[in-house]
Amino acid sequence: MSESTVRIGLVLPDVMGTYGDGGNAVVLRQRLRWRDIDAEIVEITLPDPVPDSLDIYALGGAEDSAQRLATRHLLRYPGLQTAAGRGAPVLAICAAIQVLGQWYETSSGERVEGVGLLDATTTPQPTRAIGEVTTTPLLPGLSAPLTGFENHRGGTILGHDATGLARVTRGVGNGVGDGLEGVVQGSVLGTYMHGPALARNPELADHLLCRALGVESLPPLDLPEVDLLRRERLRAA
Ligand code: GLN
Repeated sequence: MSESTVRIGLVLPDVMGTYGDGGNAVVLRQRLRWRDIDAEIVEITLPDPVPDSLDIYALGGAEDSAQRLATRHLLRYPGLQTAAGRGAPVLAICAAIQVLGQWYETSSGERVEGVGLLDATTTPQPTRAIGEVTTTPLLPGLSAPLTGFENHRGGTILGHDATGLARVTRGVGNGVGDGLEGVVQGSVLGTYMHGPALARNPELADHLLCRALGVESLPPLDLPEVDLLRRERLRAA
């Protein structure tokens, strides 16, 4: 590893890894390597304190009990909060939105205090949202439709300090009737899209990488397989 190696923190894949969202870290690393930028994934598992020195962080989704464990760990070792405070990008998938919010209620009605990085609260909805979700991004710098697979019962209300990542064109999204999907606040970006989200949305992957590297843009990549996957997913939607 050289000093310029980009270090991608995969936070608690042992706990928040139920839906294969660890693939987002692999996508970030690969898109850097394709551009001849050294990158490595640092897995932070349950016994480990969360380091605050990494360049970018990714957290995946999980069931209620696993997300409670993750919340406790992140509050005990606040490295992620320190890193987000200095502007390191954080990608939070599904349950991770809920964990990073102010509080969430589990499906059994227990209210759990969150990490507080996002002005968002989550309560269980009458029906589970399962299926393809397609959206139009609201975040400046993104133009291509976003696509993913959602699977959650929680519905997330955004407070004043947070904005939606995108507007839903198909599917449920945050699930509280405001038509929004995902959340953006400072350097933290959350979405209900599994997929993994970054494999299905390369523009979003590069957006996060630009933030991590502090650059306006990255050289484009010519990847016909990725383009084909996107076309198929959007057609299916
Ligand atoms: N347990 C949460 C919910 O159902 C998160 C699920 C997930 O991460 N897919 O809302």
